[in-house]
Amino acid sequence: MRSAGIVTFSALFLFAGITHAQTSKVSPSATKTVAKPVQAAPATPSRPKLVVMIVVDQMRADYIDKFRSHWNGGFKRLVDKGAWFREAAYPYAATETCVGHATISTGSVPASHGIVANAWWDRESQKMITCTTDPKAANAGYAGAKTKDGDSAWRLRVPAFADELRFQGNPGTRVVTFSLKARSAIMLGGHKADGATWTDNGGLVTSNAFGTLPFLEGFAKAHPIKQDYGKTWTLSLPNSDYLYGEKATGAVAPAGWDLTFPHPMRGKAAAAEPDDAFYQQWMTSPFADTYLTKLAKTTIDEMSLGRGKGIDFLGVSYSSPDYVGHAFGPRSWEIQDTYIRLDKDLGDLLDHLDAKVGVGNYVVALSADHGVVPVPEDMQQTGADAGVLHVPDVQQKIEDTLAKFNYPSPAVARIASADIYFSPGIYDKLKNDAATLNAVLEAIRSVPGVAEVYRAEELVDRPATKSPIRTAEAASYFPGRSGDLLVVPKPYWLISQSPSGKPREYGTGHGTPYYYDQHVPILLMGWGIQPGEYFGSASPADIAPTLALLCGITLSTHDGRVLSEALDKKQHSTNQASSAPSH
Ligand SMILES: [Zn+2]
Repeated sequence: MRSAGIVTFSALFLFAGITHAQTSKVSPSATKTVAKPVQAAPATPSRPKLVVMIVVDQMRADYIDKFRSHWNGGFKRLVDKGAWFREAAYPYAATETCVGHATISTGSVPASHGIVANAWWDRESQKMITCTTDPKAANAGYAGAKTKDGDSAWRLRVPAFADELRFQGNPGTRVVTFSLKARSAIMLGGHKADGATWTDNGGLVTSNAFGTLPFLEGFAKAHPIKQDYGKTWTLSLPNSDYLYGEKATGAVAPAGWDLTFPHPMRGKAAAAEPDDAFYQQWMTSPFADTYLTKLAKTTIDEMSLGRGKGIDFLGVSYSSPDYVGHAFGPRSWEIQDTYIRLDKDLGDLLDHLDAKVGVGNYVVALSADHGVVPVPEDMQQTGADAGVLHVPDVQQKIEDTLAKFNYPSPAVARIASADIYFSPGIYDKLKNDAATLNAVLEAIRSVPGVAEVYRAEELVDRPATKSPIRTAEAASYFPGRSGDLLVVPKPYWLISQSPSGKPREYGTGHGTPYYYDQHVPILLMGWGIQPGEYFGSASPADIAPTLALLCGITLSTHDGRVLSEALDKKQHSTNQASSAPSH
C-alpha cells in the first residue's frame, strides 16, 4: 500500500499570518436603519466561522447506498441534511492518497498541482522520494515521540485553499490538520499550517515547516496511542446485519490477526508490550478513527476554533478505512464495521461543533481521496476478467527486450505505481529508435493485466482526445515527475509490486483510471449550503472553489468549478449585501 513515510518542511511559523489589510467593511447593523425592530432570530455570520474539511481515505461513493441503513450518526446527518453529490469522481488516473488530498485541498488536478503519486522516482537524485519529502525540513515529535526525516508541502505547486484563506481572509485565521498519514495532514493544510500533525509508530509528530500546538504535548502524554493496546475490535451489530461473507475472499490480514473477528490489539505474538505489529493493527482499526476524532475535538476547544477573528480551518483525514480496505477489501465485514464506527465518531465531532461553534456557523465538506478495486480473487468469482498485474514482470520483459537490442542493463531505473522510469539517457535514445521502442511497448502489452501503455509525449499538455483513459492519464501527467511510459491495467486488475508467484502484502488497492477508484462521495453541509441530492457530475476538485466562494476568497488557479447548484442563494445574496465595500 503505497505508504510514504513522514514528510516535513522548513520554516518556523508560529502564527497565522500576515494578510492583506482589510478593506473597511460596513457591518450589517451599520447599513440598516434603526427603524426596524431587532429580530429575535440568531444572527447569521456573513461568512462561515470555520471550514471543516474531512477526508475518508479510500471511501467509495457506493458505500453510502450500501451501508447507510447501518448509520445513525455523522454520515447519516451529512447524507440527510447536507448536499450529497452522488456522481462525484476524480477526472484523472493517479487515484492515490497524496494526489487526492492535494486535489481536494487546491481545486486542481495533478497536471496543475504537481503531486502525481504518493511517491515517485526523482530523476535528479536517482532515488524514490515521497510527495512530502523535504531535505530542508526536520520532523519533530510531541511528548518525546521519535521520528525522522523531514516533510513539507513544498512539492505542491499551487497554494492550498487553506493558504489562500490565511492570506486573503480576515487576519487571525488558524489552519490545523490531523491524520495518521503525513501526506494527508500536510496536503490538507497547505504550506504553512499552524498545526499539521500525523502519527509515526505510535507518536504524534509534525515538522518545523509548520507551527507547533503546545497543548498537544499534554494530549500526547495523557492519551498515548498505546492505551489501546490489549483492546479487541469486535463487531458492533449482530452477524446477520452484515453483507457478504464473514471471511473476505483474498484478504491479507495484518500480522497477528486472523481473517475473521474478533481482532485483538496485541501485536504479533501477544507480546507483553506494544510492538510494530500493534501499531499496524491499530492503524487498521476503528480505534484510530476515534483517536483522531478526540484530537479534533480537543483542538476545537483548546484553540477556540470558529470563535476567532478570522475564518478558521480544520482538516481531518481518517486513514484507517484505507488500511482496512487494503487488507480486507470493500466487501468485508471489517470495512462495514469500520464505517459503522466512523459514523458514530463523525456524529460525535459534528455534535461538538454544534455545541462549541454553533449550528449554522460552520461549513463541512466530506470527500475521499480515492476508491478501491474489489479483491481480485473475490471479483473472479463473478467470472469477470480480474487478476493481478505484477510490476516486476513488466520490468523483466523490458530488460529482456532491450538486451536483445544491445541496450545497457539495467535499462529501467524504477517502476513506481504504474510509471516506468528508464535509466538516464535510455528513453532519449528510444525515442529515436522506433523499432526498439515498439518492441518494448509490445513486450509491456504482453504482460497479463496490461490494457495499454502510453508514452509521456502522448500525455503532455493534456491533449484533446476522445479516449477517456488517455484524458485521465494526461490529467495526472506532470513533466519531470511522471514516468517515461505509463502503464494502464485492465479493469479489475490490481497493480502489485510483488513478483508473480509470491504472496502479496495486501488484499487489494487503487491507483487506476477506472470508476471504482475515481468515484467518491462529496457531502457538503452547513453555512451557505443548500441541502439535497445532486445527480450531476462533480469532482473533488470542485470542493476548494466552492469553499473559496463561500469564504469570499479567490484561488489563483483551479481545474474544478463552483458547485453552484448546492449553494444557498438567499444566504449568499444576504452576505453580498452585508459585506459590500464602501467607496
Ligand atoms: Zn491506499
